[in-house]
Amino acid sequence: MKDIMTDRKIKIFDTTLRDGEQSPGCSMHINEKLDVAEALEHLGVDVIEAGFPAASEGEFKAVKEISSLIKRATVAALCRCRKKDIDRGWAAVRDAAHPRIHIFLATSPIHLEYKLRIDEDTAIEMIRTHTAYARSLASDVEFSFEDATRTPHEFLARAARAALEAGATTLNFPDTVGYAVPAEMKEMISYIRANVPGIEKADVAVHCHNDLGMATANSLAAAEAGATQIECTVNGIGERAGNAALEEVVMGIRTRRDRFRMRTDIVTERIYRVSQLVSGIVGIKLPPNKAVVGKNAFVHESGIHQHGVLANKATYEIMSPKDIGVPENALFLGKHSGKHAFSELLEEMGYTLTSEQVDAYFPRYKELADRKKEVTRGDIDALLSGVYRRRVKRIYTLKDYEVTAYKNSASALISLDADGRTHSERMTGDGPVDAGFKAINSLTGQNFKLVDYQLHSVSEGKDALGEATVKLASPEDGKTMTGKGISTDVLEASLIAYINATNKLLQEE
Ligand code: MN
Repeated sequence: MKDIMTDRKIKIFDTTLRDGEQSPGCSMHINEKLDVAEALEHLGVDVIEAGFPAASEGEFKAVKEISSLIKRATVAALCRCRKKDIDRGWAAVRDAAHPRIHIFLATSPIHLEYKLRIDEDTAIEMIRTHTAYARSLASDVEFSFEDATRTPHEFLARAARAALEAGATTLNFPDTVGYAVPAEMKEMISYIRANVPGIEKADVAVHCHNDLGMATANSLAAAEAGATQIECTVNGIGERAGNAALEEVVMGIRTRRDRFRMRTDIVTERIYRVSQLVSGIVGIKLPPNKAVVGKNAFVHESGIHQHGVLANKATYEIMSPKDIGVPENALFLGKHSGKHAFSELLEEMGYTLTSEQVDAYFPRYKELADRKKEVTRGDIDALLSGVYRRRVKRIYTLKDYEVTAYKNSASALISLDADGRTHSERMTGDGPVDAGFKAINSLTGQNFKLVDYQLHSVSEGKDALGEATVKLASPEDGKTMTGKGISTDVLEASLIAYINATNKLLQEE
């Protein structure tokens, strides 16, 4: 076995908050972005791409707040190849401990001709001047050659030389449209390394999309050819079919260390919790067969497999659930356990809660322990799934509800608390959930559109907790927010989720 010190370090650049967040239905409230940024720092990523500050006032503010929060990781702001964008990006990240300006320009013939309507010489000049300008502000500048995998190698190398000479410290070669195959990624990175003098002074990065399901394979192939930074997102969220998934890239490198001789600084035992955090915030359930973090990723169902695993885990298990921090669903704590035991368990499970939050959740735990004989780790996860360190301000809270339902009609009387007063409204609908949602819209005076509604059982048994996820869209700008609710009563969970999503949308600028 080779000494770990000789393994080559691969930097993990996380773009969950930029590429992930800008994809359909993945919008996050600013407090949620701060929670994710903090979780990513804790996870050990090298770079957090915090957003695209020129896109909107809200985006600028989020990047600025993330920049002042993050101490260890580099914080990057994405900018188009425009002076105005770069100024805005720099203003957002300049106070970060380690700020990075990330500029991009497409280099493929199809993008140059149809999107940018510029020729190759103009593109080179733009790369040169904007990289130099960014370097006059920041010492850490990344340049991305958008659609690199559909750019002829000669021109790509020319563009890379221009950016490098102008001072870029990271050169990124994205497979923007998810078109490349692993062998091509290797060829591209090898060509660049052989034809761009001085490239070893810069980081060589790849940013792969998953349109053909090859994002992780392409990223690892590029790393084998010498790339030093991989761009990815938690759970692979992102434009269209998404980006390379952080958990797959990191566990690929770790599990196949025998081949890759590479390492990352990710604390893999925290992967599962970050995956759950992001999936909860954006309201996207992971498919059970999702690599590494799916519910069934470590389940052995067939008798032959079970027999093998019992004899020796390595027969069918290449990773241990412990490696990524999957909580064991063993029974623990009963209704007589005290706050101290509760708080210790939360810590052991990886939650970082304030003592006020522990105080606030302890009675809910006791209540659950009274109702259920056995409280599992899964129950605790469910109970705390809506709890992050930064609460989104609750403008409306559910005070009471009363619902009657017949075959094709239902009526709901909903009472909400707001500004210290209780407001009530009765509405009818196609079913109890529909009637309840209508009553909430009427009480808040909003016309939010329901774009997704899911109910899941989040723990086991017939007294399991139900988790409702509601995604609402604002009719004005189409912005979406996801709310969650947990209760042993699915109707109550649904109403709470609807109110949470409403509260978030009302606080979006
Ligand atoms: Mn992308």
